[in-house]
Amino acid sequence: MNPADIPGLPSAVAVHLAESGVEKLYPPQAAAVEAGVTEGESLVASVPTASGKTLIAELAMVSSVARGGTALYVVPLRALAGEKKAEFERWADLNALDVSVGISTGNYEQSGERLASHDIVVATSEKVDSLVRNGAPWLERLTCVVADEVHLVDDPNRGPTLEVTLAKLRRITPDLQVVALSATVDNADEVADWLDAELVQSDWRPVDLRTGVHFGDAITFADGDRREVPVGRNERPTAALVADTVDDGGSSLVFVNSRRNAEAAAGRLADVTADRLSDDERADLADLADEVAGVSDTETSDDLAAVVREGAAFHHAGLSAAHRSLVEDAFRDRLLKAICATPTLAAGVNTPSRRVIVRDWRRYDGEFGGMKPLDTLEVHQMFGRAGRPGLDPHGEAVLLAKDHDTMDDLFERYVWADPDPVQSKLAREPAMRTHLLATVASGFARTRSGLLDFLDRTLYAAQGDNAGRLESVVDDVIGYLVANDFIQRDGDGITATPLGHTVSRLYLDPMSAAEIVDGLRGADDPTPLGCYHLVSRTPDMYELYLKSGDRETYTELCYEREAEFLGRVPSEFEDVRFEEWLSALKTAKLLEDWASEVDEDRITERYGVGPGDVRGKVDTAEWLLGAAEQLATELELDCTAAVNEAKRRVADGVREELLDLTGVRGIGRKRARRLYEAGVESRAALREAEKSVVLGALRGREATAERILENAGRRDPSMDGVTPAEGSAPDNGDARTGGTDASAPAGDETDPTDQQASLGDFG
Ligand code: ADP
Repeated sequence: MNPADIPGLPSAVAVHLAESGVEKLYPPQAAAVEAGVTEGESLVASVPTASGKTLIAELAMVSSVARGGTALYVVPLRALAGEKKAEFERWADLNALDVSVGISTGNYEQSGERLASHDIVVATSEKVDSLVRNGAPWLERLTCVVADEVHLVDDPNRGPTLEVTLAKLRRITPDLQVVALSATVDNADEVADWLDAELVQSDWRPVDLRTGVHFGDAITFADGDRREVPVGRNERPTAALVADTVDDGGSSLVFVNSRRNAEAAAGRLADVTADRLSDDERADLADLADEVAGVSDTETSDDLAAVVREGAAFHHAGLSAAHRSLVEDAFRDRLLKAICATPTLAAGVNTPSRRVIVRDWRRYDGEFGGMKPLDTLEVHQMFGRAGRPGLDPHGEAVLLAKDHDTMDDLFERYVWADPDPVQSKLAREPAMRTHLLATVASGFARTRSGLLDFLDRTLYAAQGDNAGRLESVVDDVIGYLVANDFIQRDGDGITATPLGHTVSRLYLDPMSAAEIVDGLRGADDPTPLGCYHLVSRTPDMYELYLKSGDRETYTELCYEREAEFLGRVPSEFEDVRFEEWLSALKTAKLLEDWASEVDEDRITERYGVGPGDVRGKVDTAEWLLGAAEQLATELELDCTAAVNEAKRRVADGVREELLDLTGVRGIGRKRARRLYEAGVESRAALREAEKSVVLGALRGREATAERILENAGRRDPSMDGVTPAEGSAPDNGDARTGGTDASAPAGDETDPTDQQASLGDFG
């Protein structure tokens, strides 16, 4: 099918598609169009990775907007939201269409009014769920919703939110077009039944995919073919496979199971790639490495730059967005020859590669109690990254086996295996707790039977014939919510209490709220560490694991600062609880360090985390402390001001005395400290201060100084003819590239330094 033959689309779209290299629709895309996706039909597309699902979504959204509607694209990860928005901007750039694209990933409580001005909005499912809870009127205008990676309804943590959100959106707008994009799964028909959607199911791929297992001196492919890839005496199989691909003019993507492994393996592969570069490539890589090193002054930055210089890279969730996109672009341009990645890269990011090597097909799983084989779906997603359309004759995906039995096992488990089915995880308690409260609080259900009726619209109900189990889970959860005073019962009637409304609006897990309320009730004047520890032990904060030696360190700290903790400190003999308490203390200490102006670099080293992790913890802490503050206000507790200060300190990454300065846009933690040390201690002081002193503290950067003075409300911010005061050096590290960070808070800021002001100085 040619783009010009697609019904329901303005002609400018076809022209644009042809210009951007889409001359013909891929077969699954044509099937979607035939099923009516550009004419408002709901659709589930279950097709392999890299076979053009995004375009199906774009066609649905653009046609819906052309009919005067509004579209929402739901992504599973914050990091993908920015990427998708950038991708959809091409429709905004098309004047004939007059489409505007927005993004919503910011704080949970926003009502979303700003979104109303956009035709296409990209958001995470958590964000959409919170818009529903806050009754954003904008949602009623939606005509098309796309659920990206809908197979993730199977995910125990994030799946239920996606599931409930889709059910609610469909209830708010009964005619809503739902387009669900899925990897190849075994039961896409059940998902289509649930969503009353047409089904397009296909295993077509733009490039042939050959899958196999490497063992000994060769890869054996599924079709019985063999390719000799001998492994030298002191060589590792991965190195031999990567060398083989580079010699053949291709690139490799190596999947490993941890960040540390990704970095270590990249270091070793750099030796392989370094020997195989042309002079031009070497020069380009040197430039790229400098750019990578300039992103932030952290060890991660330096390590990444070192391997990039030699033609290899690592990629994991601990990288900043700026690093990620530099690596991805250079890999797409074939400058980088090998990337070692954790499985997060397999989700969403478009980095096709000649050969995919799944080195680690097991990963440590605490609940499982050891190394657990990855799901088939996950490995198939990694496989799907093999083969670059138009560049490679075919893609190759290879697993590694150490012996014959493992080889047989891998063939069974991944190569021959049928895809996994998706199974709703809504019945899990944390999910039920959160979603039942939200459903009651936002008025979707007012009685126990109304609740059961609403749940009947979920995939869980569509899949199960186990109505009895659903009822009993629901009753348990109602009991928990009543006991914590979040809802009250009156016969069959159920209503949320004011506290319950607040909890739901704040988007807290009710169990987090219960922990926070309990901790704050006895606290008059909590210290920042006390506050950080309180929020760090809620289920909404991801844990930092204790490493060897940590138990002793934090046990000691626990006794040293015992008076500061809110709530009861478990005894050392309550093994599991105490252990959890200590890992929360480790997180709390990280937050305290950040709020005491410890360098980001020292923090990443001290806690063994990446810069992205520090940022994630700080963001979560800021949100949870904001929630704690509102709960304290709601309950008229005395500790509100102390919680507020703890929140602002962690948000800005500064000690108390700098809070006034960091409140000025453009001033991050380092600039604030330099201004303070130069005697300019407040926003008011900025308005009066000697300009040369301000300029000196800002290391001679005139434009920055002018903007900051303007933001502080100074009438005459001009720096014309001002010379910086003594002791100043060029400013080279304060205003980082926050503006390119896709996961930065919401807002259409155009000035990167505005963001660094609110983020601290993250690189
Ligand atoms: P998926 O979402 O299924 O993983 P993508 O939508 O990312 O796959 O598509 C993979 C690549 O194929 C993208 O670079 C996209 O631009 C390209 N592509 C999609 N459809 C077509 C088409 N009909 N013709 C040529 N290229 C296409």
